[in-house]
Amino acid sequence: MPHRSSTVLDPQTSTMLEPHTALHLETPPHVITRGEGITVWDSEGNAYLDGVSGILCTNLGYGEPRLIKAAADQMAKLPFYPSFDHRTSDVPLALADDLAEMSPMAMGRTFFANSGSEANDSAFKFAWYYHRSLGRPGRTKIISHQRSYHGTTVASGSATGIPHIHEGFGIPLPNFLKVPCPDPLDARANNLTDDQFVDWLIMRLEDLIATEGADTIAAFIGEPILGAGGVIIPPTGYYQRVQEVLARHDILFIADEVITGFGRTGSMFGTTEFDLRPDMMTFAKGLSSSYLPISAVMVGERVYAALAEGSANSGSFGHGFTYSGHPVAAAVARENLAILKERDIPGHVRALAPVLADALGTFHGAELVQDVRSYGFLSAVTFDSAAHGLQQGQLGPLVAAKAMEQGLLLRATGDNVIFSPPLVSSDTEIKTMAHRFGDAYHEVVSARA
Ligand code: PLP
Repeated sequence: MPHRSSTVLDPQTSTMLEPHTALHLETPPHVITRGEGITVWDSEGNAYLDGVSGILCTNLGYGEPRLIKAAADQMAKLPFYPSFDHRTSDVPLALADDLAEMSPMAMGRTFFANSGSEANDSAFKFAWYYHRSLGRPGRTKIISHQRSYHGTTVASGSATGIPHIHEGFGIPLPNFLKVPCPDPLDARANNLTDDQFVDWLIMRLEDLIATEGADTIAAFIGEPILGAGGVIIPPTGYYQRVQEVLARHDILFIADEVITGFGRTGSMFGTTEFDLRPDMMTFAKGLSSSYLPISAVMVGERVYAALAEGSANSGSFGHGFTYSGHPVAAAVARENLAILKERDIPGHVRALAPVLADALGTFHGAELVQDVRSYGFLSAVTFDSAAHGLQQGQLGPLVAAKAMEQGLLLRATGDNVIFSPPLVSSDTEIKTMAHRFGDAYHEVVSARA
């Protein structure tokens, strides 16, 4: 049976600063050293099916030769040139065109960054710039959901609705506001139908806008499916109603497609899947299958017009990163997008989504299990620690740890165990993951009996 050794490195002398610094001093981190297909190996030689695509991002799996070649070729031709001072390189220009062609946004223009957090920070700055250019500098507030995840930088972390991301850092900043999470489990817990729940959520949004004043609010950011918060699939029609409210108050809508972009829902974009009309879309992870860091903000016509007008009046806007539009990352992203289209990866996800949903669906109503939900290749099983005399959030990590012993990597966020297999996973691989998960689950149950 695969196991994790504590002899990989000496935590006392390891100099890498990890977020869990205290744990790092006691136990070495799990060190992954190799990947092929949807399998990764650790430094002890143990193999794992990667049921979570790294961190919901290695969508084409590992060792894809075309991505490796794209990087090597570009590295040889032009390893780097910045996109600053009205100079750029050819590859990000071409990548922006690829994205414009694929995206549901009419005439979308793309600004490149390096992470989801940077993309969202950039989108907020563009929202502020947009309102300023229209003579509305008072519109500075950003609305997001409780339990949302938009990153960890000062601004994107302020938009994130998970208290753990704020603790110890003095964020969220005061101009970041939250509305309740559109979690259908909360509707159930309060005996509300989906429609009643959406009415209530919309009322809360309207109340917040009325209290704060629409003329103080710049934008609303939302994930089509809330990922890190526990794969929360908003009730049908929720975002349509949100968009109606935002349009009425001239508040911009930013779709955070960092997880849902590039096939995970079974469509190329969550925006298409849920028929959204954002003013901006942010991308990262699946844009390059994370072979290299690259992220993007695509802006629609009205935001672009404001940026263009501002530039006509006062030159370039004061925003950008040294590695914006890095040519090697952009070359990998271009090849990644070409593969997604040629192999119809969203179609593959659509075809196999029921296999994942059905396999995990068998845990509906099982002991310790509170809920199971699935959309495309994004699923979660929620455990109910509290109902079983455990501290809330204990069971998720316990089951994920057992799954690891079974040769399956999953992600636990509190009592949610998240599945987001690489989008190239086969029918057999999905079933094997579900089987290993089942073995892990049964081990936890029998240990408690
Ligand atoms: N937005 C969403 C929806 C995410 O899931 C994440 C990361 O998981 C981010 C933004 C932040 O991306 P990054 O970690 O690349 O900064």
